[in-house]
Formats: sequence, C-alpha cells, structure tokens
Amino acid sequence: MTTTTCDARGFFGEYGGQYVPEPIIPILNTLAEAFEKYRNDPDFIEELHYYLSNYSGRETPLYHCANLSEKMGGAKIYLKREDLNHLGAHKVNNTIGQILLAKRMGKKKIIAETGAGQHGVATAATAALMGMECTIHMGAVDVERQKLNVFRMQMLGANVVPAESGQRTLKEAVDEALDAWVKDAENTFYLLGSAVGPHPYPFMVREFQSVVGREARKQVLKAEGKLPDCCIACVGGGSNAIGIFSGFVEDEGVKLVGVEPSGRGLEYGEHAASICLGEPGVMHGFNSYMLKDEAGEPAEVYSISAGLDYPSVGPEHAHLKDLGRAEYVHASDKEAVDAFFELSQMEGIIPALESSHALAHALRIAPNMEKDQIIIVNLSGRGDKDVAQIERMVSEGCFELPHLRK
Ligand SMILES: *Cc1c(COP(=O)(O)O)cnc(C)c1O
Repeated sequence: MTTTTCDARGFFGEYGGQYVPEPIIPILNTLAEAFEKYRNDPDFIEELHYYLSNYSGRETPLYHCANLSEKMGGAKIYLKREDLNHLGAHKVNNTIGQILLAKRMGKKKIIAETGAGQHGVATAATAALMGMECTIHMGAVDVERQKLNVFRMQMLGANVVPAESGQRTLKEAVDEALDAWVKDAENTFYLLGSAVGPHPYPFMVREFQSVVGREARKQVLKAEGKLPDCCIACVGGGSNAIGIFSGFVEDEGVKLVGVEPSGRGLEYGEHAASICLGEPGVMHGFNSYMLKDEAGEPAEVYSISAGLDYPSVGPEHAHLKDLGRAEYVHASDKEAVDAFFELSQMEGIIPALESSHALAHALRIAPNMEKDQIIIVNLSGRGDKDVAQIERMVSEGCFELPHLRK
C-alpha cells in the first residue's frame, strides 16, 4: 500500500514530526496505532472500498484530452478526473477514510477546521452519512467570506463555530479545534483535510489519497501500454498531489511536478508558493517548508483559488523536493484562469481554479514534448464552485471571456 514512508516518529527525512503541546502527543499516538491496526485490516479495506465506489463513484476516469492535446501540438494530455467524485473533488477520499477509522475507534463526534470551506463541506457530508455529530471550526473572517459553504455545512447538519480570536482566520480555527479535541479526546475524532499537521496525519492522508495514484497507474498502462512521462498536480497542503504521486514515485522515469500558486506576483503576501519560495520551519505541528513574516510567524498568503492559499506544505513534499524526486514550480492567477478557460472550451470540462494551476503547467510543457509522450494532470476538482467568482471578475473587467475555438 505504501511508497516512500516516514519513520515511527513521523519524519520524512527531516520533515514532519509532532511539534505539538505535550497533552496532544498521547492522543496522536493512539490515533497512529489505530490507523496502523486498521489500514491493513481486510474488513476495514472492504468497507472503505464500498463507500469509495458506491458513495463517491470511484473509480474516476482517466480521460484523454484529444482536442487540447492536438491544439498544443505535443504530448498527449490525460486528466485523472477527481472532479467527478461526490462533492466535486478528491477531498472525500480522505474524509471517508478518516470517518471509517473514527467509527472503528468508537468515536461519536467529528471536529474539523476549514479555511475556504471545502474540507468542512466534505467532512459535514461524510459525518451525516455515518450518523456522527459534526462541529466545524472556521475563522470568523472566513465564515463571512464563505457564506454559501457555511450554509451548505449547516444544511448537512453540522455545527459551524466561528473563531473570534486573533486574526479570526484559519490559524485561530486550528487552535480552537485542537483545544476542543484535547478537552474530549475520548469521544472526539479530529478530521484533518490535507497531508499536513503532526504525525500520523500526513502519512494517513497520503494513504487515503493513494487510491488516486493506484487507479491512474493501472489506467494509463491499460490505455497506453506504458507509464506517463510526467505527472502534474496542484499543491495547497499537498494531498491530491501526494495521492497521485504515490502511484508513480517508485517509477524513476515518471517525472513528478507539483504546482504552487504564485498569485499576483512573487512579492510577500501576493502568493502562496510555500515550497518554491519558503524555507524550513515549524507551523501547525509539523516541520516543512513554510512562508514566514519578519517575526518568523506564518506569512499572509494569497491565491485566486482559496483551496491553495496555505503558508506551508505537507512534509513528504519537502522531502521529495530535497531528494530531487519531485520538482515544484509555480503558476500565477492569470495562467490558472487561462487554463481554466482553455479546458472549458476545448473539452467541455470546467476545472476547479486549484486544478487549473496544474493544468497551466501542462499547457506550458506539452508543446515541447513529442507526440508519443504522455502527461497526466490530476484534475483535483470541478469548477462549479468558482463560476460566481469568475463571473464577478469578468463583469468587473479583470479579464475578458475568451472565445478559443473561433
Ligand atoms: C482543497 C483542494 C485543493 C488543495 O488541497 P491539497 O491538499 O493540496 O490537495 C486542490 N484542489 C481542490 C479542488 C481542492 O478542493
């Protein structure tokens, strides 16, 4: 099931670990033991597969973009269609896995924190499915910014708690969720949404997302009789990327590329390219590359896609970067929006703005590759959630709606 792995204390090389207050360590260790016990348990695996296929609709297709590939004039571009999952993104692969684990551990309540709200929605939906009480901690500023997702979580039966301290954003929501966890660890399961945080989360989330890489590897071998030359994914916390990378990391000939958002530019506060432009440091309980402000605190970050604006990155990515096994590049808001329209009009698929960053890099490199070479882009989510934002930006004159097939 595994590929590159971490040591018993959760280190991928020098990254990862458990940099948390003392009382949290035994709770994390109990979680790590439970995951170790169940991840190879045939009943657990069977139940996981049942929900992945019957609830979320796996396996997702590996789709050849014939029109787009021809237009670019180089490599064959394939999409791993994670956008076709229930709830419209890869996040549900992880929430199903963690909720099933919570059930096995006898937990009654789920808590999670969310920034943009997408992880909160996936958590609220899977908690509803499993009949569990669900509380979502969210910065008060984000509650205001993401009203529709807050309402969605409430419709799904979750209790949304705004974090009113400090900057009233994700950091405060994380602190409050951790507090709530420590106060009732007996009954509560903390469901983390990306391959970040203290051990065992980066490892556990990777394992639950590895289904993406396993399927993609099998599908490309069936379709083409060979492995891809390059596999590309966008990187926020890094869960969709590590999920697809895990299927190919042992195949040295497959280039792995993670794409971070360079937003409006490379100046402080204008991007969220944590691994490209950051430096090693500790935040949110783990050691990895991070963007810091002058005081060494997590930097302010920005991206057009709310799902990518995180000032650090999963520790396994930091390790893959140092090993030289994966390459990390960035794409700007503008490049992502161009790719968003390109896929919409050439293939009739509206991608999430997050995924559009990965696609933007594919569009950069495909023309310089041979026609028999293969690129797989992990299309982590669909763009329905982004339509209102794009419409507003077009009507405000930020950019024009292009007509690419005239
Ligand atoms: C949340 C999200 C991301 C970013 O999270 P990762 O953990 O980096 O995968 C990317 N794409 C979509 C569609 C998302 O919803």
